[in-house]
Amino acid sequence: MKQCINCMTRLPRREVTEVAWCALCAPCLSAVSDQMKVLHDRPGGAAVQILQCGWCGVTRSCGAGSRTRCLVCLDDRSVPDPAVQKIAGRLELDGTWRENSELIAATTVKIRLAKYFQPGWTVLATDVHGLPWTGFRWLTKSHGTWGRNDETGEVQQLKHSRGEENLLYLVRYGKVLKFGRGNAERVGGHVAQGAVPVLVLSAARQDVTVARDRLKRLHRTEMVSQRTPVDLFAVLPDGLDVTDRYSRS
Ligand SMILES: [Zn+2]
Ligand SMILES: [Zn+2]
Repeated sequence: MKQCINCMTRLPRREVTEVAWCALCAPCLSAVSDQMKVLHDRPGGAAVQILQCGWCGVTRSCGAGSRTRCLVCLDDRSVPDPAVQKIAGRLELDGTWRENSELIAATTVKIRLAKYFQPGWTVLATDVHGLPWTGFRWLTKSHGTWGRNDETGEVQQLKHSRGEENLLYLVRYGKVLKFGRGNAERVGGHVAQGAVPVLVLSAARQDVTVARDRLKRLHRTEMVSQRTPVDLFAVLPDGLDVTDRYSRS
């Protein structure tokens, strides 16, 4: 037996279809049959498509020829995932379970996209294993993060931006705070995804690493409720406040 990840119905294996790394029953499959539109087909000959959700506009990458669906949108047949509801509770989200799930998924996608921000490229789409359904266990399987070269228009798979990670940052994505360490491009990537920089501190890389680890031990995850006091100066007292460099005017 298999279980449909969207409505949790248990079915014989031959009655489920693989969609976006997971198994869906026939009614759930048809609920999203016209959801995704192809934006880029096999860029550079890669066995990948970049698609866009017609419901919310979020993009994703997917293996060419595979069935997929939006990383964010649930549907009328979806049932709540207790693990995601637990995250929503911790983040003190006040929407319906579906709104909360979609907000968590959308924020997770933005945080992933921010990692790939780099000058000269427009980040187009990524693929996060487990979305739009499951909490926590963001697994490592992915069809990659893709971007377009601003000069040549070429679409290709991107690598994480590299560079000295000497910044400890706190940014706000709507109702959610996210802290982390990274370089200037990482913070710029969050801002490009719509985050507001709350505080950005610059320090020696080792000190930033230690400070980030202390914050992670305190708060357990890097995504916390907007009411959580996240005190960057407490863990990095010698940090230099460079927030102004990242605030949009
Ligand atoms: Zn189903
Ligand atoms: Zn969508």
